[in-house]
Amino acid sequence: MKKDLWIGGEYRSAASYNELKNPYNLELLAKIGSASQEDVRLAISAAHQAKTMMVEMPAFERAEILEKVARFLRDDLDECARLIAMEAAKPLKAARAEVNRTIMTYTFAAHEARRIHGETVPMDAAPGGQGSLAFTVREPLGVIAAITPFNFPMNLVAHKVGPAIAAGNSVVLKPASQTPLSAYRIAEYFHTAGLPAGALNIVTGSGSKIGEVLKKDDRIKMITFTGSPEVGRYIREHSGLKRVTLELGSNSAVVVDEGVQLNKVIPRIVNGAFAYQGQVCISIQRIFVHESIIDEFTEQFVSETRKLKAGNPLEEDTDISAMITRGDVERTKQWVDEAINNGADLRLGGSAEEGIFQPTVLVNVPLNEKVSCEEVFAPVVHINSFRDFSEAIDLVNDSKYGLQAGIFTNDIHKALQAAKKLEVGGVMINEIPTFRVDQMPYGGVKMSGMGREGIKYAVEEMTELKLISFKTE
Ligand code: NAP
Repeated sequence: MKKDLWIGGEYRSAASYNELKNPYNLELLAKIGSASQEDVRLAISAAHQAKTMMVEMPAFERAEILEKVARFLRDDLDECARLIAMEAAKPLKAARAEVNRTIMTYTFAAHEARRIHGETVPMDAAPGGQGSLAFTVREPLGVIAAITPFNFPMNLVAHKVGPAIAAGNSVVLKPASQTPLSAYRIAEYFHTAGLPAGALNIVTGSGSKIGEVLKKDDRIKMITFTGSPEVGRYIREHSGLKRVTLELGSNSAVVVDEGVQLNKVIPRIVNGAFAYQGQVCISIQRIFVHESIIDEFTEQFVSETRKLKAGNPLEEDTDISAMITRGDVERTKQWVDEAINNGADLRLGGSAEEGIFQPTVLVNVPLNEKVSCEEVFAPVVHINSFRDFSEAIDLVNDSKYGLQAGIFTNDIHKALQAAKKLEVGGVMINEIPTFRVDQMPYGGVKMSGMGREGIKYAVEEMTELKLISFKTE
């Protein structure tokens, strides 16, 4: 299979093509067009031309297009899940869950398209304001560049393309090089649903090469980026006056207080730690357990983790499959070995086989080890103890990241203390930090990013507030 670039409502050939391989068995999946800088400029021009059509399209039509895309995804659910499983090595169960979430995301975008509105402003609250009637409207920004990572190739594209189209913008999308197929599939759905040519363009190829053009072109009014903190920061620092939102990484923590029902919380935490090989921005990486229950917790946690089945992502019962690259397997092994050499105890895993890194549990990890303080983005967790709850909060906050945190406790005072003190974008009480539904506000503080997604909140980021004031007297 060969995939060209999607520009101006049609596939256009690229100057060169890169091989896309299945991360699990390294089989060739397709040859993917690699955009030149001129191709990227063409995509921006197409989006720029489609801008007027998008601004003039009524909300109900934008909503209907988004509803149709959700319907096409529902019709092709299994096929889309297989696409994600093959290009991202995401186990089929998780890939299917992602497609279901993507359907929800586009459905929420359709709802949101119908209710974008401003408000009246009480002008007479200030001296001199009497005799003026004023209101705000939300207008689309124009052309938005969306840059997405590999780990939720359909749903994270939906979190950008959905609200952008809902708000009447046009888009140039750069999906991750490892996961272009699901993105091109979405372009085809939008086209069939009646989106005007040029309103959604997709360019694949080198992130840094394409990024250079997107950052510099003044026709692009906003860059919405999801990916690693290093790239996010670089984009932020080189994008001039463009609006930029960044959804970046983290080393998410969960706190388990004494008194909680371990048999109930442990399967949930195992899932939050190892789902999709730990390659989720809110994967659990650090587990802090009250010292009175840490032995029992660790034993049960290891035994629950042993139940996970590693294998081919296309098999129904696979829980864990290959990491995205063999290089990431190597890096993970180095970080785990370093932690062990510096005093951590290995309780499970610690090695890899053919791209699959075994679910790994470490205890007593020095907190300056990379497996604790950097984003490991792999199936690796550590369990450390705490004595009092304030210490647990400090341990969670002792991080350069702040995306989401989870607290399991039966004590309402501790829950409220956590809600107040935790330096994160979302506090999940009696829930894992990995919890997300697609309409909630989602984003981080510190190095985890800036701006919020969750359709309504993304629409706010992707529109400009305009004030209209009438002198009535
Ligand atoms: P990545 O390497 O930063 O890549 C993300 C996207 O940026 C890809 O499309 C990539 O293209 C592109 N890119 C690379 N260099 C660029 C540059 N100089 N300018 C513009 N674009 C550039 O991240 P990843 O490995 O795909 O994803 C993992 C990271 O994403 C983790 O840190 C994870 O925590 C984070 N993440 C965050 C969230 C969230 O919502 N907070 C959600 C999911 C993932 P290429 O693929 O061609 O390099």
